[in-house]
Amino acid sequence: MTLSSEAALPAKFSGESRLLLDHDSRAALWARVTEIVEAHIRGVAGLRVAPELDPAALRDLLEPLDFAQPLEPVQALEMVAAALAEHQVHTAHPRYFGLFNPAPTTMGIAADALVAAFNPQLAAWSHSPFAAEAERHLIRAFGERFGYEPGSIDGTFATGGAEANQTAVLAALVQLFPAFSAGGLRALNAQPTLYVSAESHHSFLKAARLCGLGTAAVREVPVDKQLRMRPAKLAVQIVRDRTMGFAPFLVVATAGTTSAGAVDPIRALALVAARNGCWFHVDAAWGGAAVLVPELSSVLAGIASADSITFDAHKWLSVPMGAGLFITRHRDILGETFRTDAGYMPRDAAGLEIRDPFAHSMQWSRRFIGLKLLLSLMVAGWEGYAATIRHQTAMGDRLRQRLAEENWRLVNATPLPVVCFVDASRKDGASAEFLDGVARRIVRSGRAWLSTVRLHAGVHALRACITSYRTDADDVDALVVLLAEARVAAAN
Ligand SMILES: *Cc1c(COP(=O)(O)O)cnc(C)c1O
Repeated sequence: MTLSSEAALPAKFSGESRLLLDHDSRAALWARVTEIVEAHIRGVAGLRVAPELDPAALRDLLEPLDFAQPLEPVQALEMVAAALAEHQVHTAHPRYFGLFNPAPTTMGIAADALVAAFNPQLAAWSHSPFAAEAERHLIRAFGERFGYEPGSIDGTFATGGAEANQTAVLAALVQLFPAFSAGGLRALNAQPTLYVSAESHHSFLKAARLCGLGTAAVREVPVDKQLRMRPAKLAVQIVRDRTMGFAPFLVVATAGTTSAGAVDPIRALALVAARNGCWFHVDAAWGGAAVLVPELSSVLAGIASADSITFDAHKWLSVPMGAGLFITRHRDILGETFRTDAGYMPRDAAGLEIRDPFAHSMQWSRRFIGLKLLLSLMVAGWEGYAATIRHQTAMGDRLRQRLAEENWRLVNATPLPVVCFVDASRKDGASAEFLDGVARRIVRSGRAWLSTVRLHAGVHALRACITSYRTDADDVDALVVLLAEARVAAAN
């Protein structure tokens, strides 16, 4: 027996043969995985964008799996890959005009595979020094792009925008209320309140609940016709709350709302926040990518004055889910918010100038979220991303123009590629029922995906976002044709 061939090694115990698999099985498995991934990338445009929704069929598919009879690895893989291909919305499809779920970057897919294989643990710095420093490097790179002073930048990777936003709420509580960390909200004299626009992401309601503030502590400030928070209304609301004994502590501007891509007036809101001694957070989960394109970056003017920023790399930077960044210009706030002293955590890095991620973020054991961004950016470069964002923005402009030609009426105004519109050719063309009918027909056809939104003003609209970087002019034109068919069908 030769030790140089792993295939010849007998399995030490049956668990190893079933969990690790032998060399030949692994080789066959990897070959098939890469074939499946490549076939999906090449063929996704030929699939239905959205599946037929059939819970019974899925239960029938899964029912026979009782895990009593082990399957061959490739057989198990084939079953799951076929199910994924058939039973999901393909956000990577160039005719997915959906929420902010893009086609994943190829380097991001490779990164996630590497992360699974090396399985770096990002709780303690000393367990995964490269991963920890790579994430720190990225946080600083993006902090600088947003205009922060290099020496002041800190932050952490998170599962997504919701976790980053909750981090902001916690950090603001810790910063503004010294008694909060140990004593909780009960140690405070007044109920803290936070301020978001009526169009903000609902993760702030969850964050308020999770932090013990309760959702009533979230003040939804009215928006103007372009769905942007009104600074004067914010100022009035803060004064009113203060008079009534509340303790305003956090103002959140949204840069790129989920419904309509609206960008709050960041500079004006920053001023109101500063005058009232509030933490100022900018939720730029999707829209923050505009900072990478000089001709778009002015929509984010003033973002450098934010105390903290949420940015999601799994939105407009197209890395696989989920990859949120919380970035702040307060070097010590994350430590103050999350530090705990755990006797069992490794001390190998004592004396080095490092920060342990577990003492610096919400998660404890954590995967290497940043690698998919690192590898994507290493290969695309800032320029590659800027070109992509420009292309998507141009496709958004094309869609607006084509819709206007076809007598659809645009109801949002943003330079970002989210287009909200109603049918100007008929009396009930803005009714929820009619618009839902149009969207439903298109989604059920499997040929494209878009949705309807209720904008806060009570206005209903169809919503199409250029989400996939693979969406091209013929995809936009195809959507316009589908809309023309659906508006006729929905009228009958
Ligand atoms: C997507 C989004 C969120 C939530 O982020 P997740 O990554 O889904 O957790 C928050 N705010 C805005 C503006 C978003 O677009």
